[in-house]
Amino acid sequence: MSAHPPLKTPQYDPTVNFINDQAIWQMIDEASAPTKEQVIAILNKARLCEGLTMQEAAILLQNQDKEVDQELFKVAREIKDTIYGNRIVLFAPMYISNHCANSCSYCAFNADNHELKRKTLKQDEIRKEVEVLQRMGHKRILAVYGEHPRNNVDAIVESIKTMYSVRTDKGGEIRRINVNCAPFDVADFKTLKTAEIGTYQCFQETYHQQTYESVHLKGKKKDYLYRLYAMHRAMEAGIDDVGIGALFGLYDYRYELLALLAHTFQLEQDCGVGPHTISFPRIEPAQGSEISEAPPYAIDDERFKRIIAIVRLAVPYTGLIISTRETAALRKELLSLGVSQISAGSRTYPGAYQDAQIEQIDAQQFTLGDHRSLDQTILDLVNDSESVPSFCTGCYRKGRTGDHFMGLAKQQFISKFCQPNALITFREYLNDYASEETRAAGNQLIQQELDKLSPSRRKNVIACIDKTDEGQRDIYL
Ligand code: SAM
Ligand code: SF4
Repeated sequence: MSAHPPLKTPQYDPTVNFINDQAIWQMIDEASAPTKEQVIAILNKARLCEGLTMQEAAILLQNQDKEVDQELFKVAREIKDTIYGNRIVLFAPMYISNHCANSCSYCAFNADNHELKRKTLKQDEIRKEVEVLQRMGHKRILAVYGEHPRNNVDAIVESIKTMYSVRTDKGGEIRRINVNCAPFDVADFKTLKTAEIGTYQCFQETYHQQTYESVHLKGKKKDYLYRLYAMHRAMEAGIDDVGIGALFGLYDYRYELLALLAHTFQLEQDCGVGPHTISFPRIEPAQGSEISEAPPYAIDDERFKRIIAIVRLAVPYTGLIISTRETAALRKELLSLGVSQISAGSRTYPGAYQDAQIEQIDAQQFTLGDHRSLDQTILDLVNDSESVPSFCTGCYRKGRTGDHFMGLAKQQFISKFCQPNALITFREYLNDYASEETRAAGNQLIQQELDKLSPSRRKNVIACIDKTDEGQRDIYL
């Protein structure tokens, strides 16, 4: 991977809570009854793809006019099409360990859940798990770990190295590993970086400090500020693609959305670049967790759709991720509102992909909403929304990360790289792993997409696709 210097050395005071509780509530209160004209003006501004302020997002959040909401969804679609095209990046979560010393009241892995079957995969088990994922066609993994002395940075680095080293027939390999694990200090983040990870992901869960303290009952995760500055420390250590998120259902969704934006803008200000991705987990039922059965601030699908659309308008260049916590039907709707990455064929416990069962209630983190296989998810993407599934890992490997990636995205160059690379890697999937039905539908879509390219770019992409058909693998621009 080619490195490039960050825009600036992060400057921050980790003792200051930059989530200003009073200011957020004031914004929400002041925007409680927006006029139609106000909302339309903000939607028109959003069309310029220059983002929104927190105040503007607060106004969109509290719009009551259903007709104007349809306009909001339309603008989200326009922005998604302009910046990301119709490609959608696919990945699979892989749980390495459900050992955890923390006690988060919403999670089945919490240390007080004595019913859970605990497991930390050994290196040979990791290898086998990766082989199964490769044979499905996956090229990107999100490696997930509980926070536990067993999952210290050296163990995590070793597991990632093992994952990258696995090869199966037909060029099966993992080309990008993103990591979702507990936050480290700067020195340990530097060690994590040596494993050549893609994005470091860590969710604040709730930005509301009082709520945070009431749901994190013991362990290192109790420290709100330490978690809040995780991404600052990661960037200081040179990890420039970071992913943030809030666990919706713990506190007021309006507060969480504005706080996600505050976090984004703070990173831009202090580190020179905002988050690479934002995730939107909603609390799902988890074994041994009462709160997960009836989340105090549960949000319905309509609200959830508005949240995604508003974030798309507010930070047009940040990737948005939706996992298989959500149902297939809702994920289809969310795609058109600006989601750019989805997980597929997921399982949520260590060793799950080698397991004949789909779910193991007494080992998994939470229940899934979408049980489709990767191949079925891809077929649906092609048939239902004419989206191009992408297995591209090119940007990260060409050093197009952090502020460099954002610079390119802002110049709308991403479509220059992403769309061609999506088509080439999709062809690779179709040739190597797809069912007959998916292959036929996918190849038809590729042809359709090639016809939309300029003659010179089409020629270039066809040459890469031809080489792929001849057996070359891992071609990207
Ligand atoms: N242990 C690390 C941590 O807490 O940051 C990383 C792994 S944790 C398994 C990944 C994420 O799962 C958490 O950040 C949380 O947002 C999410 N999660 C936990 N319980 C959940 C539930 N019941 N439903 C949906 N998502 C959940
Ligand atoms: Fe452990 Fe993470 Fe689950 Fe909390 S969310 S119990 S830290 S795995």
